[in-house]
Amino acid sequence: MGLTPFKRCIFFLVDGARADVLQDMLQAEELPALKQYVLDPGVCQTAVSVFPSTTGPAHAPFITGCTPGTCNIPGIRWFDRTQPNGFNHFKQSRSYVGPGSFYMDTDLNMDVRTIFEYFDRPAGVFSFLNRGLGLTENQTLLTKDWYWMYAHFTGHWQAVDNAAWRYIDRAVDRRSDFIFVVFPAVDEYSHHTHPFSEATYASYRAFDRAFGKMAERLHRNGQLEDTLFVLSSDHGLTATHTHFELWKFLDDQGLKTVYYPKILKSGCNAASMISGNGMAHVYLKHGDTWQSQPTYQHIRNGIADSDLIEALLAQEAVDLVAARHENGSIVACSKNGIAEIQDTGSEINYRISGGDPFGYTHMTECMTYDQSIEATFDSDYPDAPYQLSKLFNSPRTGDLIVNARKGYDLKILHEHPEHFATHGSLHREHMQVPLLMNADISRPCVRTVDVFPSILELMGRTIEHTIDGNSFASHKDMEGVYA
Ligand SMILES: [Zn+2]
Repeated sequence: MGLTPFKRCIFFLVDGARADVLQDMLQAEELPALKQYVLDPGVCQTAVSVFPSTTGPAHAPFITGCTPGTCNIPGIRWFDRTQPNGFNHFKQSRSYVGPGSFYMDTDLNMDVRTIFEYFDRPAGVFSFLNRGLGLTENQTLLTKDWYWMYAHFTGHWQAVDNAAWRYIDRAVDRRSDFIFVVFPAVDEYSHHTHPFSEATYASYRAFDRAFGKMAERLHRNGQLEDTLFVLSSDHGLTATHTHFELWKFLDDQGLKTVYYPKILKSGCNAASMISGNGMAHVYLKHGDTWQSQPTYQHIRNGIADSDLIEALLAQEAVDLVAARHENGSIVACSKNGIAEIQDTGSEINYRISGGDPFGYTHMTECMTYDQSIEATFDSDYPDAPYQLSKLFNSPRTGDLIVNARKGYDLKILHEHPEHFATHGSLHREHMQVPLLMNADISRPCVRTVDVFPSILELMGRTIEHTIDGNSFASHKDMEGVYA
């Protein structure tokens, strides 16, 4: 373990916190505790989340330093085509909504190590991924589902956030050196009202008040100066005005589609697995079994009654569609044009035909990962070429990825209560998240996969497995400015 000014780190995942809302509220002095204890000694930046920008998979970069593609958990729902065709599609369908969230730890790529494995006394509070936490270190192992169920039926998500603060106090008292905490209230109030509603703003303010109390308690115990605070989010949210029923559309194209919760249907030849309601993995049966994956060319040439990509792009609700080219690259299509994206492992090769599907204006044909985020950071689709390539590295990713247009989602039935906000897509308002910490960030364009190596560096740990992220920790912090 290297020399470090920090003895413990508390990571706050404020689920669904929008970068602009947090920054505006900080500026308007509506979040005085975060300003005093985190922003004043540190920095607040916008970071790019991972694709799909959805609860669960988008928590993975903070815990593993890897994208959902590398983690092999490509969505909050996905379809397992390696499972044999059963009487129905129960065994092939995976959802981390509800009790299915327990599968995340076993589904996570075995080569990936979690941040919990790098600390001596880690603690997790309401985390979806818990590999590396002992039974007592997973503070909410027995209570998370109860809290979620209570809040789902009463709508009182603030109660879950309130409980999270009690678990933090307890973990600090037990001398935890890394505490990972998920706060669901902002996300839930956004879904049920609006990302800019009074109920949503109130949950940011409640967070700040509780943060202030926690910081005062740390100060009284002489623990404030050596605590690293990192706050971020997994996705933003946009308001939803129109629902588009994707499975119904696929059925209208001559397919028979399995989707959640109707996974007990039999004999389907398509699967629609939706994340955050703004993106979907679509799986298509090609031949007699699910084993062979159709390529972009197969889908264009009519796996359904017609060219499914063209039919999807003709829908107002659909913004972008992507599929695998037979040469191994990724093809992204929108009404504006087509891009072929190839990930070499360190660089992105990018070629367009027609126009640019993302409307990019600063692209070159060959870019390092850093250059590709810099060229796209301020666009409507920050980091999309990198994010799409990484997601398609997962064998569990769909044959087609569908992105909803801003204002639309891909699900009507079986969503109670009705959702008035959406995330999951590649759009900037879903992909941009706040990154706030009481230490410096050395680069302007960062990804949430970079948070993991930065925390480990600031906490004096050496990374022992291959990850997607790169540390943005500043050496100024390691020279003991807080000592
Ligand atoms: Zn979320």
